[in-house]
Amino acid sequence: MNTANGLNTVATDSRNTRVSPGTAMRDQEHRLFQRVQEQMDRAAEAIDLAPEVRKILAMPACEVGVNFPVRMDDGRIEMFSGYRVQHNNVLGPFKGGIRYHADVSLDEVRALAAWMTIKCALVDIPFGGAKGGVQVDPAKLSRREVERLTRRFVYALGANIGPGYDVPAPDVNTDARTMAWIVDTYAATLPPQERYRASAVVTGKPVSAGGSVGREKATGQGVVDLIEMWATDQRCEIVDLSYTVQGFGKVGSWAARVLKDKGAKLLAVQDATGAIKSDAAEGLDADALADHVKKTGGVVGFPGAQAISKETFYATRADVFIPAALENQVTAETARVLNVRLVAEGANGPTTPEGDSVLRERRIAVLPDVLCNAGGVIVSYFEWLQNRGGTVWNAAEVNRQLRAILERAYVRTKEMASEHALDWRSAAYATALRRIEQVYAERGIFP
Ligand code: NAD
Repeated sequence: MNTANGLNTVATDSRNTRVSPGTAMRDQEHRLFQRVQEQMDRAAEAIDLAPEVRKILAMPACEVGVNFPVRMDDGRIEMFSGYRVQHNNVLGPFKGGIRYHADVSLDEVRALAAWMTIKCALVDIPFGGAKGGVQVDPAKLSRREVERLTRRFVYALGANIGPGYDVPAPDVNTDARTMAWIVDTYAATLPPQERYRASAVVTGKPVSAGGSVGREKATGQGVVDLIEMWATDQRCEIVDLSYTVQGFGKVGSWAARVLKDKGAKLLAVQDATGAIKSDAAEGLDADALADHVKKTGGVVGFPGAQAISKETFYATRADVFIPAALENQVTAETARVLNVRLVAEGANGPTTPEGDSVLRERRIAVLPDVLCNAGGVIVSYFEWLQNRGGTVWNAAEVNRQLRAILERAYVRTKEMASEHALDWRSAAYATALRRIEQVYAERGIFP
């Protein structure tokens, strides 16, 4: 049904839920989806893409909005709003994470869904793009409340997700445990004879509950693989590189831990709790910092480190900066003070268009998000294949295939950049759009 704010709401919860009217106003302010459109337009123009492909990708295929009740620990009922945006599935089932954050908006979820379409096409795996989110700060909820919220959100989404249709995964503030709750809830909605197929409804599950080895660190591992490819092109060794990280959650902390194994030096980290820099010549110990974050919830107070301001963090001189937190962090202002050679985008959409222009002017290289953080969805694809095929891959196999897929995407992006004289972000989009164009040309449009 079409609601007043233009949202195509598929109400599946029994109380016939709708999207809150506040959404449209908040979306006017964000305009993240418009940014994705502009990025696609730039790439499409450069390669003379068939106009109908742009027309199709300018609108998400389906948008689901649900408002649902959750019982709090003290017996109160609170209402929550969540979204699932399914952008495009011409290449395969919709695929994309679920985010819990107080700032989640329809516009943000749309943009994240469209980025998934581009990402899957770029790395050439048979998935389309989707994303979901719930407007909630999970730090203010107990673990039991987050569990009930998760289960109720999945129940509200109903048949809008499914192993062969739309397959969620972890994102900001969700993790393997969240995915296990989703499988359990989804299974409970199936007849007993069909429950065996429930585990493929999400990826990023605990390994003991049908997850793939290597999935937890896959996005960070992919970020490092790509930094390594860039370093090889620059004729330098990863062991000689220093770097800073913003966000020390699943992506940032794993990228840092893999980089530690390769001998690179971590100079400074910033997260939602503040920023720190190393006192020691050898830099911050990523493993010890990850343990500290697990115990305390943030990087601040890490023994042997010094608290620094956000400004000092951005100005830290290093070879590589890895944004691995939220969108819109590398703005014109922060891009001007960054003192690095490469921005390796672990987060989705960390760089604003203005920030991008400054990075280009300053000749700071960028490994764009749709390429740089694709390791997560690639190993999600492996997990989905294992669940559906009833097989289990080992770590060596996962890492080998991940590296091979990323290498092909890196080379394709590089070739596109040089053939059309494009920056890497536009080249990555152009590569993805060509892939999608090819499928539409071959399949045509029904009827
Ligand atoms: P996470 O919840 O595990 O970690 C998020 C981190 O960001 C935390 O350290 C948090 O403290 C920090 N943060 C939040 N607000 C901040 C702020 N204002 N300033 C600085 N730091 C802040 O999330 P994650 O899964 O690591 O995701 C991080 C980014 O990577 C997101 O953009 C996400 O979409 C993207 N991403 C994640 C995956 C994945 O597999 N998890 C895959 C691809 C892309």
